[in-house]
Amino acid sequence: MKNIFDLEIQNSSLDGKITAGFERLSQVFRVLLWEKAKNHDLSPIQIQVLIFLKHHSKNKATVSYMAKEFNLTKATVSDTVRILEKKSYITKSVNENDSRSYAIELTAKGLEMVLLTEDFTDPLFDLIRMVPENEKNVLWKNISSIVEQLHTLQVINVQSTCRNCGYFLQQNDGNYCQLMNIKLETNDIKLDCIDHKPVRL
Ligand code: SF4
Repeated sequence: MKNIFDLEIQNSSLDGKITAGFERLSQVFRVLLWEKAKNHDLSPIQIQVLIFLKHHSKNKATVSYMAKEFNLTKATVSDTVRILEKKSYITKSVNENDSRSYAIELTAKGLEMVLLTEDFTDPLFDLIRMVPENEKNVLWKNISSIVEQLHTLQVINVQSTCRNCGYFLQQNDGNYCQLMNIKLETNDIKLDCIDHKPVRL
């Protein structure tokens, strides 16, 4: 019996309290996003897609990639893209090399909306910035490890992190990035890297 919503179980160990704490933290993003969504007549996923498009390269601006990124079905993302296009926040153009796929780009109106909404994580970011550096290192080491293990268990997708990058090298004395030619310390490990190279299986 591992139900952390049973308060006796939750409060009888740190394991239960930490798991419950993560559950509370997951609510933070939902609450903050809904606040923005309400103010701008958009849904949370519509805002997330717009923000994603501003900060990622064209080859990632596809329904398939975003479906994995947000752990949603392609049908849901497709629908989101359709509505955003209807509201003139994005444009779609057919991929010259593959008529079955299309490139998605932000319009000027879309970019304006991103600038109004992308600060939704600020309340948490401001708190994290005040944590001492050594404690942040421990926090990041644990969070990145938990995220990686959840990815391995196929609970969530993490597409552009160091551990599944073609430039990542694990050796006895540590981890390396072969692109930047550096040893990767804990605070160098990235969750979403602009230079990530997918590993060909
Ligand atoms: S290129 Fe980026 S994701 Fe890949 S190993 Fe280097 S830092 Fe990590």
